Parts: sequence; structure tokens; C-alpha cells
Amino acid sequence: MSGETRPKSAYEIALQQYDAVAEKLDIDSGTRELLRHPKTALEVAFPVRMDDGTVKVVTGYRVIHNTARGPGKGGIRYHPAVTFDEVKALAMWMTWKCAVVGIPFGGAKGGVVCNPKEMSQGEIERLTRRFTIEISGAIGPHRDIPAPDVYTNAQIMAWIMDTYSTNRGEFTPGVATGKPIPLGGSLGRNEATARGCVFTIRQAAKHLGIPMDRLRVAVQGYGNAGSIAASLLHADGCKIIAVSDSKGGAYCGKGLDPAKVLAHKKLTGSVVEAEGTEFISNADLLELECDVLVPAALENQITADNAPRMRAKVVAEAANGPTTPEADDILFDKGVMVIPDILANAGGVTVSYFEWVQNLMVYYWTEEEVNGKLEHIMNHSFAAVLDMAEKKKVHMRNAAYMLAISRVAEAAKLRGIYP
Ligand code: NAD
Repeated sequence: MSGETRPKSAYEIALQQYDAVAEKLDIDSGTRELLRHPKTALEVAFPVRMDDGTVKVVTGYRVIHNTARGPGKGGIRYHPAVTFDEVKALAMWMTWKCAVVGIPFGGAKGGVVCNPKEMSQGEIERLTRRFTIEISGAIGPHRDIPAPDVYTNAQIMAWIMDTYSTNRGEFTPGVATGKPIPLGGSLGRNEATARGCVFTIRQAAKHLGIPMDRLRVAVQGYGNAGSIAASLLHADGCKIIAVSDSKGGAYCGKGLDPAKVLAHKKLTGSVVEAEGTEFISNADLLELECDVLVPAALENQITADNAPRMRAKVVAEAANGPTTPEADDILFDKGVMVIPDILANAGGVTVSYFEWVQNLMVYYWTEEEVNGKLEHIMNHSFAAVLDMAEKKKVHMRNAAYMLAISRVAEAAKLRGIYP
């Protein structure tokens, strides 16, 4: 034995988080064991014709973790490093996310091992259409509904919907969400993750008695979630003191203008050196003295190593899995309020649910209606999680897991075992 410790995989972390909470809940052992496993885990390999005439064999995954409360729901990521294990973890997190905000879906996730940055649009389209056929037995508007995730987008959802609909001979927009607006996409979906996160920050600030226009905010990651969260918070009067991307960060103690930083990023490819800002590293941004830190980039950013030095009062997890279980305990002991990912970034899947509802009833809402319904769900869910955390004297993540796991276990129990 070398005694070396390897980092835990995403699935090991997902199971660790689940076990820590499930064993304290009043759930029978059969149901508790059932929820540790994906219901369906498909691995497929299929040929794709490349532009130069060669054929590439591509591996893809679709995992449905649980469908006790409704059809599976979760994104598909296209990434060269995606693994079956990671997709299983993400599918499980989707089950808890849908349950914590009370939308009637189970959890699922998909992945295709490929590098879309090195592929033509034609190659991505052929890969997407063939992958859709390979998993077509598993997906469907009442079975499992994919959505965009890392390196997939509205166009890819359009191809999934078209392939599925063409094969069935029926227009079936409810088979995927995150579609373009002309094909049944929902108004407000693009901003939904950031908007939902901002609703939770407003509730946290209210709870802590800090007015929004006194908040100093740092945002890690300046993509869909991070850049939109920064501009919505700026519009609320918050001072955005630092933002970052994969190349580094931009700091301005007096507060920066998120729209100007976005324009700079569009021009130069990065937020670094935006006018009136100083360089700050991603590591230093996480340790800045601020009221709210919004991690909106990658997993495993807040760890046992940097958590003791962090000075934010609130961490609002727009990203999935930015905080390790060890860091969670450290932040809890320091009195930091962590709004966990399954709550803080659930706005995206919530508006995906609205998109699916609109597709099924073939009647479409205004953006104001979508945002109003989102605010209601986020505020209600935040209050339920905070109440549970205070009653049980646990951190917000464990409180969110307690609510979510109890809801899924109750549904599974009520459905019983077939046959
Ligand atoms: P995105 O690709 O639009 O943006 C990601 C940003 O992170 C980019 O600015 C990138 O430069 C930055 N980044 C990459 N590596 C970094 C590093 N090492 N340090 C700092 N920044 C880095 O992605 P997104 O859709 O905004 O997703 C961000 C996170 O939010 C992910 O964890 C994703 O799973 C989560 N999330 C997104 C949605 C959604 O609807 N977009 C929903 C739920 C959760």
C-alpha cells in the first residue's frame, strides 16, 4: 500500500453527502438503499462520420437516478473528460434539486465524451442526432427530459427535439428544454439560473438584516450564471468588487460595472484588465473580505485548505459542487451562510419545468409571468430550507438534503414496489 490519498470522485462525494443525511432520517432501509443507486444507467457507443470522411466511435451516457416524483430531468454535457461516474453524481444531485424546490421531476444527467471546440457544426449535429437515437428508448416528455449543460446549447436541444419528433412522426417539444424561443423555449430561461440565485441572495440579506445596496459581492466565473448574476445584483444596488474567469480576475474596491466588464470580455476574451480594475487571482478572490461570494465556475473551489481564510458572510453557490464536505463544516463553524447549489442554482431547472409545462399545454407565458412564478418558488424554498436548518441546527446544505431526501423517499414509499 502506498498510503497515497486520491481525491474523491464526484459520485463518492454525492454518496457521502447522501449517506450523512439519509442515516439520520426516518427512512426504511430498503428505500434508503434504493436511493443510493441510479434507476437506469445507459452507456452507448456509436459511429459519427467526420467532415474528412473518417468515422469516429463516440461514447455517451444517460443516467436516470430516480423517477419517484416525476420524469427524469437533467442536462447533457459534451466534454472530453466526462465520465460515467460524474454523470451518475450529477443525476443524483438533480433528483435532490428538483425535490428541494418542489418541482415534479426526478433526476437525470447525460454526457458525451467529445470536444465540441474541435468539431464543426455539421459534426456536432450528426453526433447529437445519433446520440438522441441511441438514448431514445430512455427519453421522452413523460420519461426523461434533457436540457443544456456544459458545452451544449439551445441549438443542440433543437436537434434533439427534431430527431425525436421526426422519428415519432409527432411534434414533441416537451422532450427537451432550453430550446430556442421559436421552437417552444421559455422566455426568461437564459437568465433563470442567475435570477434564481439572486432571489436567494435577497432572502439571505433580509435574514441577516443587511440592505442589498450595502452588499459587497465577489463573483467567480463570468459565463451565463456569473455574468448575469453580477448584473442583476448591480441593478439591485450591490457593489460588485471582483469578478473572474479562467484567465484570472478583475478587482475594484469602489465597485465595477458588470456590463462594461462583459463588453471587455467579449472584446479580449477575459475580464482581466477591464478598465479601472486591478488584477486578482481566482484564489485571492475567494478569500476577499466581502458580504457575498458567488462561485459560478467549477467544482471543488472551496476546500479545507482555503475555507479557514475565507471572509465572505454568505456563499451563494451558482455553480454545482463548488464546496467540499470538509469545507462545509469549516464554514458552518465560522458562521458563514452557504446557500447550497441544489437551492441556489435551482432557478435554471425551475424555468425548464415552466418551459415543459408551456409545451404540454401549448400556451405561452410572458417573461413577467415566468419571473414572478420563479420568485415565488425560490422564496418559498429558501424559507423552507432556512427553517429546517434552524430547527435541526444544521447547515443549509444538510437542511436542503433533509427536505429533498424525505420528499423523494415519501414518494417512493407511497408508490410501493411493483409487482
Ligand atoms: P459558462 O461556461 O457559461 O461559464 C463558466 C465560467 O467559468 C466562464 O467564465 C469560465 O471562464 C469560468 N471558468 C472556467 N474555469 C475557471 C477557473 N478555473 N476559475 C475561474 N473561472 C473559471 O457556464 P455556466 O452555465 O455559467 O455554468 C457555471 C456553473 O454553474 C457550472 O458549475 C454549472 O454546472 C452551474 N450551473 C449552470 C446553470 C445554467 O443554467 N447555466 C444551471 C445550474 C448550474
